[in-house]
Amino acid sequence: MSSRRKFLKRSTLSSFGLMTTSLFSSACASNDDKIKSNISTSKVKFPFVISTWENKKANQAAMDILVKGGNALDAVEAGVKIPEGDPEDRSVGYGGRPDRDGDVTLDSCIMDSEGNCGSVCFLEGIKHPVSVARAVMEKTPHVILAGEGAQKFALANGFQKENLLTEKSRLEWEEWKKESNYEPVINIENHDTIGMLAIDANGDISGACTTSGLAYKMKGRVGDSPIIGAGLYVDNEVGGATATGMGEAVLRSLGSFLVVELMRQGMSPAEACKEAVMRIVRKQRFDNIQVGYLAINKKGEYGSFCIHEGFNYVLTSDTGTKLNKSVFHLKVKKEKK
Ligand code: ASP
Repeated sequence: MSSRRKFLKRSTLSSFGLMTTSLFSSACASNDDKIKSNISTSKVKFPFVISTWENKKANQAAMDILVKGGNALDAVEAGVKIPEGDPEDRSVGYGGRPDRDGDVTLDSCIMDSEGNCGSVCFLEGIKHPVSVARAVMEKTPHVILAGEGAQKFALANGFQKENLLTEKSRLEWEEWKKESNYEPVINIENHDTIGMLAIDANGDISGACTTSGLAYKMKGRVGDSPIIGAGLYVDNEVGGATATGMGEAVLRSLGSFLVVELMRQGMSPAEACKEAVMRIVRKQRFDNIQVGYLAINKKGEYGSFCIHEGFNYVLTSDTGTKLNKSVFHLKVKKEKK
């Protein structure tokens, strides 16, 4: 096993140890039959918006645009800007946890129904990386801008440079530095990283994904979230998919692209998400990390699947907003304190 793999494996294990409530996967808690019986196809009338974890306000901002006849691209940008601007969302934008050097570095991408896409990674000092990603898509011949170049482009396009490290995040980082263990926390619950997919009244799909990535990551580390095909993929003929969790596992399998291609071959969104997750479990032999996929198709069907119990997602349609628990591969057993 490479040392990087060992690190990722070790770090996730030790981060579990840091939690007040220890979480362990129960090896015998699930089997394929059980998973199969849990996978049913859910369908909703469009327009609708769906996003990873629990950010209802983000969905509402997107839905406000969709109900007025707005397009899915504007909706997903407006939606994910909510956690980007919220200092209490600790895995996204302003207030996101910094890297090991104390710098908040952001990853984000956006993709529209015509296959246009834009992305920024390792971007510092700009509160709304998704809007910079959209500007990359609309104003440059490129797909990805990184680091200093991304910031220079943002500043030249009217974005303001701001300090994104809040006092809360700084104090936590100071605390982390005392031990300075190289242990980015991959929680299996309570993420804020947001991947959002929307289908507008015309039936057109767009998506966005944005994150500050792993807390206390190595300087320069970029995860799956800004990589088209990994953290997000949309093909308007088929559907869209987005990912959350351990970016390295998603990158190795180009997970969101895989989910969309599996849907193209006839799988439902939930079945495709399950196959992409199980490929990580089988091929990468990790079951101590979290990865969750969320997908929609052109018919308005949606579904998700994750390695560990605990991933959830929010769906907003004309019938309101609903928090859904994802189907999972491994059950989490909460140990008594
Ligand atoms: N996928 C993100 C990353 O690896 C993290 C997350 O979803 O929480 O950067």
